[in-house]
Amino acid sequence: MTRPPTIKKQTSSGGVIFRKSGDAIEVVLVSVRGGRAWCLPKGLIDKDEDPPAAALREVREETGLRGEIIDRIGQISYWYSLKEELIKVYKTVHFFLLKFIDGSTDDHDHEVDESRWFPIDEAIGTLSYRSEKKIMQKAKEMIASAQKSF
Ligand code: ATP
Repeated sequence: MTRPPTIKKQTSSGGVIFRKSGDAIEVVLVSVRGGRAWCLPKGLIDKDEDPPAAALREVREETGLRGEIIDRIGQISYWYSLKEELIKVYKTVHFFLLKFIDGSTDDHDHEVDESRWFPIDEAIGTLSYRSEKKIMQKAKEMIASAQKSF
């Protein structure tokens, strides 16, 4: 008889960090799994953290950049399996919009293969997961509607 899988829950937090370059908006994506996927920077929320604090920390660690939180963008959820389907993980990821303060993409940590600035439309095309493309599209709309204040 096959055992039913163990269900686990995970919660991560991450962000869209942006800057203006002339009239263009640029954002940062990270490359993971040996360059096979381009994603938004994110990671598990620590016990002593709330989602915004985790987003600031994960963006700093994975992109090498410091940002300030402008607003919450939204959340996504997906399932994945571990240990040959014995564990099924239901994961929720909170995303925040961050305005770039300082730092260099060269200072990303070893969790990612590369950290790189992209024009925002190219980033939407490059992201590997549809749910993260939607988050980036929403970030683009939020930046456009608040443009004058940046
Ligand atoms: P974290 O960055 O939160 O520490 P992780 O690197 O341990 O997470 P995930 O990025 O959640 O793990 O990846 C776990 C599995 O889920 C991988 O198989 C990955 O391909 C898949 N995955 C990651 N993001 C998504 C998504 N937005 N939609 C569907 N599947 C995803």
